[in-house]
Amino acid sequence: MFSLNKYRKKSPWILHYNAGSCNGCDIEILACLSPKYDLERFGVINTGNPKQSDIFLVTGPVTFRSRERLIELYTQMPEPKVVVAVGSCTCTGGVFRDMYNVEDGIDIYIPVDVYIPGCAASPELIIDGVVQALDILEKKTKEMEIPFKLFKEATTKKGITSRRESALKIGENDEKN
Ligand code: SF4
Repeated sequence: MFSLNKYRKKSPWILHYNAGSCNGCDIEILACLSPKYDLERFGVINTGNPKQSDIFLVTGPVTFRSRERLIELYTQMPEPKVVVAVGSCTCTGGVFRDMYNVEDGIDIYIPVDVYIPGCAASPELIIDGVVQALDILEKKTKEMEIPFKLFKEATTKKGITSRRESALKIGENDEKN
């Protein structure tokens, strides 16, 4: 597990979801993957599988029809994960704010780590947001590793292993007696 986490930042996999956007920001996300910006040269891969994704790129103000799917995709992504809201309408509702069929931003339903403003958000800002997301992903990964490291130390030094060994020895001695 730790060896995989070491390389997570170097090749993050992205899940892109349109939660009711006008498609403007989605086109900008695709522009980031085109030869001009070529995010893939940094190891960033746009995957369609939430179970293999590290960064959730969402566009759109969340329509009533898309909110269930938004939560479903978010919960299917493994920890640690980072959510990036791309575009003004994803952050606050933007031009769709107060419409009868939208929810005015995704943070009503899922926690957002990075907000990218703009209508549409430019590829430069999206790339900047992804870089910020990578730092947050690294931080979250380290935080998740702490309990595993503590457990490993406890089992290899004076902790659980030695206690188990001493319990076994006591058991052996009891059997001999
Ligand atoms: S922020 Fe603007 S361009 Fe982007 S999806 Fe919303 S309305 Fe469209």
